[in-house]
Amino acid sequence: MSFIDNWLRADIKAINAYHVPPAGNMIKLDAMESPFALPDELVDQYLAYLAESELNRYPNPSADALNQTLRELMNIPDEFGVLLGNGSDELIQLLALACETGDTILSVEPSFVMYDMIAKFTRLNYQGVALTKDYQLDLSAMLDAITAHNPKLVFIAYPNNPTGNTFDRKAIETIIQSTEAMVVLDEAYYAYAGDSFIADIAKYPNLVVLRTVSKIGFAGLRLGLLVGNAQTVAELDKLRLPYNINTLTQVSANFLLQQKTMISDNASVIIEQRQQLFNELNAVAGLTVYPSQANFILFKAPQAQALFDYLKANGVLIKNLSSAPKLTDCLRVTVGDATQNQLFMSVVNQFYAV
Ligand SMILES: *Cc1c(COP(=O)(O)O)cnc(C)c1O
Repeated sequence: MSFIDNWLRADIKAINAYHVPPAGNMIKLDAMESPFALPDELVDQYLAYLAESELNRYPNPSADALNQTLRELMNIPDEFGVLLGNGSDELIQLLALACETGDTILSVEPSFVMYDMIAKFTRLNYQGVALTKDYQLDLSAMLDAITAHNPKLVFIAYPNNPTGNTFDRKAIETIIQSTEAMVVLDEAYYAYAGDSFIADIAKYPNLVVLRTVSKIGFAGLRLGLLVGNAQTVAELDKLRLPYNINTLTQVSANFLLQQKTMISDNASVIIEQRQQLFNELNAVAGLTVYPSQANFILFKAPQAQALFDYLKANGVLIKNLSSAPKLTDCLRVTVGDATQNQLFMSVVNQFYAV
């Protein structure tokens, strides 16, 4: 037995690591990244801004300027608190760290895998409640599970990943009102959705909302935020490691996120492309395409594994979910720019034409 086998927590040894496949030179449509790079005309200005940062100093501990920029970009009312994280993943972990030993995290399935993984890392119980056959929230199953397991945290991704849909708003409000758990609405895809729970924070003391800049063009910055009641945020802030948002992220984000028009124009292009991609996938005989409020589309495909491999062999990387529970034969494609989507579609059509 090796040293680490002997030394490590048995439950960590048993976890399958979060696997990020290498993309090489492939067209990357697997991770919900934006296809849009920084426009040339902004590069010099951005570099000049970056050159001002003092890397011999610790970062601004509360990232004040960035906090304000984010509030303006996302129209977050002054009376709500905002907590910044090194990606929203860090904020999910911070919420888990606020729980007591033996507490339970509840979410739906299929959903974002980090809720379950972070529950394991932090030695909390995890309870998944199955969505209905067409990936809607099963309200009565949720309410039963809440009664049975008395969770401390309930995570609902809105829109949901990997299914792409938003759940019924009334059902979510019923859940918020029927539990003493903190309900976390994860709005990673807010820019592509028609609805948000930010305003509802004023109504529900047990509601917090997570957002991230990862899916709106800045995945490389690692920056997420938790929006909630000011007192809730002040307490949770005690668990944040000092200087968790590094200076380069603070300075970069503070410049880049002021480009509100660029960001919303890019989101509009993706929403348009999503509609086109949806129509084109729908036109392929045999595919079941799920409606999406996010920057990706889930679809069920005959010979899913073979299609995935064929796309890869032709230089297009998407996400293969075909062996995941409740996602038999499903693949997930990120909406790219027009050229990328056309190439993806031509390979899909080629595959089924053979
Ligand atoms: C991508 C994603 C995240 C992760 O966001 P980061 O800010 O990059 O850590 C969180 N929640 C959901 C539902 C996601 O799909």
